[in-house]
Amino acid sequence: MTDTSHNHRLYIETVGCQMNMLDSELVVAALRQEGYELTDSPKKADTILFNTCSVREHAEHKIYSALGRLKYVRRRRPQTVIGVIGCMAQKDQDLIFRRAPHVDLVVGTGQLAEIPRLIREVRARPQRQPQKAVSLDRTSGSVTRIADSFRSYDPLRDPDMRPTPFQAFVRIMIGCDKFCTYCVVPTTRGPEQSRPPSQIAQEVRLLAEQGVREITLLGQTVNSYRHTENGRLYRLSDLLAMIHDTDGIDRIRFVTSYPRDMSDDLLQAVRDLPKVMRYLHVPLQHGCNDVLKRMKRGYTVEQYRDMMHRIRDLIPHCSVSSDFIVGFCGETEQAHEKSMDAVREFRFKNSFIFKYSARSGTRADELFEDDVDDRTKRRRNVEMLELQNQISEEDNAEFIGRRVQVLVEGPSKSAEKAARRQPPPTGRPLSVQLMGRSECDRIVVFDGNPRLVGSTAEIEVSDCTGTTLIGSIVTREVRHGSSELLPILS
Ligand code: SF4
Repeated sequence: MTDTSHNHRLYIETVGCQMNMLDSELVVAALRQEGYELTDSPKKADTILFNTCSVREHAEHKIYSALGRLKYVRRRRPQTVIGVIGCMAQKDQDLIFRRAPHVDLVVGTGQLAEIPRLIREVRARPQRQPQKAVSLDRTSGSVTRIADSFRSYDPLRDPDMRPTPFQAFVRIMIGCDKFCTYCVVPTTRGPEQSRPPSQIAQEVRLLAEQGVREITLLGQTVNSYRHTENGRLYRLSDLLAMIHDTDGIDRIRFVTSYPRDMSDDLLQAVRDLPKVMRYLHVPLQHGCNDVLKRMKRGYTVEQYRDMMHRIRDLIPHCSVSSDFIVGFCGETEQAHEKSMDAVREFRFKNSFIFKYSARSGTRADELFEDDVDDRTKRRRNVEMLELQNQISEEDNAEFIGRRVQVLVEGPSKSAEKAARRQPPPTGRPLSVQLMGRSECDRIVVFDGNPRLVGSTAEIEVSDCTGTTLIGSIVTREVRHGSSELLPILS
């Protein structure tokens, strides 16, 4: 007999990148159609989903620990459905059922559309039958068959799951064909596939109608975007031009770029299209050619330098951020010093620095020994972080006395913390510390009325830290659900 005793409360925990945040938004939207409501506690939920990441070992450990704790929840509330979805589901598949036999669902990145049906299936059977939906392995047949098994999932949207009600992610491609030796993404997200530009433009229009003002186009290598529609080839530069004039959209960003595909037409589009923000995230990963070769990144430091020169020449004031891996297999002290030199030379706005962790199923794991001990990895990580922070602070100091435009996103982290410690008295406070991002992606904090959230403001910068510009409002534009523009001097 069908178990109808459940309460339609969904708890979803998301780890990893923006792609995962978007996937969670879409899964939640689909489950809302089935009558589910979100809850912030697994204790109140009858359906618990983990949207997972496989890029770092640490993220996987955390999920397995969380699953271990849920064994007891399942004993107390047998109607609870527990699912693991996303990258780890695609990578580990049956291993998840072996390590956590109380899991009901394992659904890979290419099968997310199946989730509502699979949850129904689990509930429909008195004797629980684990359900698995994953895509084909990348070595299991023709590229077309494998690509078909990874379906891009971009149906309904859920405003409650967005970073803010006026910011949204839009996926323009899935998968990756670069096969860097340390990376699991080509396995967990499948072959590179770009979505049709007309579909993307329609989604952007829909989001604008829902009040979204800033969109971030997502792709693992977003600037590798290529799609032929009605006989015309669209690259990322063409797509940016196509969506640029969408009414209601004021800001467009895109992440993450791949150095070798940073073409001049794209840089010119960033320069010439005023709504496209002057910010590029282009991971270098390492500053030593031998290591880049072992990583199979497909470029040398010299080629990356050439790209940086083209960026600086073509787009004045464009900020660039990077990712780095420290402690990759065979990384000597000299190689690490070359990475440090690269941080000094390229002066990134910020860098995401990771200690290398071997991932099963990658070429690096098969070919090379993970021979840099953890202490050394930690030390190199700290050294690079300190250097990057010093550079970020020096470059942020250049902004003191200048004005930047921000989209006001909400209270700053410290304002949120303070409100949690001591909730404000009844009524809305007249002024709190707010935060927004500049056009070059710097975090800016300033005092202002909370009703400014969702509007743009001009901020004069008076101070800074390595991560934040601090300033005060010069002018603001308020747009609360109407197209009325009210410039107010403060
Ligand atoms: S470009 Fe390399 S690091 Fe980036 S997703 Fe593809 S394989 Fe992974």
